[in-house]
Amino acid sequence: MKLAFNHEDEAFRDEVRSFFDTALTPELREAGRKMTSVYSDREVALAWQKILLDKGWLVPSWPREYGGTDWSLTQRYIFACERARARPPALSPMGLSMLGPALLGRGTQTQKDYYLPRILSGEDFWCQGYSEPQAGSDLAALQCQAIRDGDHYVLNGTKIWTTHAHVANRMFCLVRTGRFERPQQGVSFLLVDMEDPGVRCEPIRFVSGCATQCTVYFDNVRVPVTDIVGKENEGWSVTKYLLEFERGGGAAAPGLLEAIGHARNLLAALPEAERRDPSRRLDDLEVRVHSLELTELRTLAETERTGSPGPASSLLKIQGTELSQAISEVAVELIGLYGMPHQPEAYELGSNVPPIGPADGVTAVPFYLNNRAATIYAGSNEIQRNIISKAVLGL
Ligand SMILES: Cc1cc2nc3c(=O)[nH]c(=O)nc-3n(C[C@H](O)[C@H](O)[C@H](O)COP(=O)(O)OP(=O)(O)OC[C@H]3O[C@@H](n4cnc5c(N)ncnc54)[C@H](O)[C@@H]3O)c2cc1C
Repeated sequence: MKLAFNHEDEAFRDEVRSFFDTALTPELREAGRKMTSVYSDREVALAWQKILLDKGWLVPSWPREYGGTDWSLTQRYIFACERARARPPALSPMGLSMLGPALLGRGTQTQKDYYLPRILSGEDFWCQGYSEPQAGSDLAALQCQAIRDGDHYVLNGTKIWTTHAHVANRMFCLVRTGRFERPQQGVSFLLVDMEDPGVRCEPIRFVSGCATQCTVYFDNVRVPVTDIVGKENEGWSVTKYLLEFERGGGAAAPGLLEAIGHARNLLAALPEAERRDPSRRLDDLEVRVHSLELTELRTLAETERTGSPGPASSLLKIQGTELSQAISEVAVELIGLYGMPHQPEAYELGSNVPPIGPADGVTAVPFYLNNRAATIYAGSNEIQRNIISKAVLGL
């Protein structure tokens, strides 16, 4: 099988490529290159978000009337490929790729009219409050409680591992509003103001040195009843819909192919005597990424047809994260001893501290360490395998 673009698609690819070439400032390029985590820091992400918004390319998959494009499936994929090639800072997906589609699918008209423009402008920076100290994989065990008091819910409890909670002004979260035989019943989906005086965040420091996740404490936080998405006690269906977008529906393969290319370049940047040859492993990984690419294209087609990626998103999550970890492992092996110094000052934005070892290798170890979490967050890969066995294989 040969996948080839037609002339129109090629012209579109050239247009996108030239946009990335001109729109990415040296500072934004540096931020993209020096990312050690999955997403960029808030300020740099918002700077890039504004450029995409002005161009009209921030949320290609949203309906046009809400700021989306009417790009074909092929055009969306071309855009993802060109973005991976250009390596811009990665935008936070919480508002743009998770809550936005959930509101489009399940929100009231008032919620759409109020929140969607604020997601696009960056005025609202969202985090996702699902996990709790005793409810991770078994999310339905969540205990964070919201009790109705007139026109408000009063929220008490704890969320954990909440990415970007310390820099977000809004959180979409799952809370318990009722107790029924099935724990999934009695869960509601609320939109919380993080600036409420009852919200407290404590960042959690990871092995890489980063502190991007937080524990969040709610002490009598008041949420207007108009900020519930879906009906009371029926938030689980909103969550299931949203999680499909978190776990798939995107295009990981183009970025993984870039990461393989980056590992090959890293090899060339090393002194000859220090080069190990991982080409067989990289070739093997490249073949696996190409097979992921075909599955992603099939899933994109399915999303375009049905409006949601469905349970195949679990399969994409497993493949994408395991391949990403395998590639980052090769990168760490490649740089060898140069990976040992702890040198965060060398990948700080705007820093002119010369790195020890090849410049492109300074982020290999922190990225590898942060990337250990990829098979855990967004629902661990073991849980994704459970979902596939039930929903796809019918076991
Ligand atoms: C970097 C990072 C960012 C995160 N960001 C967010 C965020 O923004 N918002 C948010 O709400 N959460 C976030 N999380 C939390 C994440 O979703 C949970 O860590 C994850 O769901 C696992 O839950 P847990 O940590 O409680 O582990 P547990 O559920 O206690 O699981 C421990 C281990 O047991 C395995 N296991 C558990 N149950 C089963 C089963 N039934 N079958 C097979 N194996 C099982 C798991 O796979 C795992 O290996 C983040 C986590 C990390 C590490």
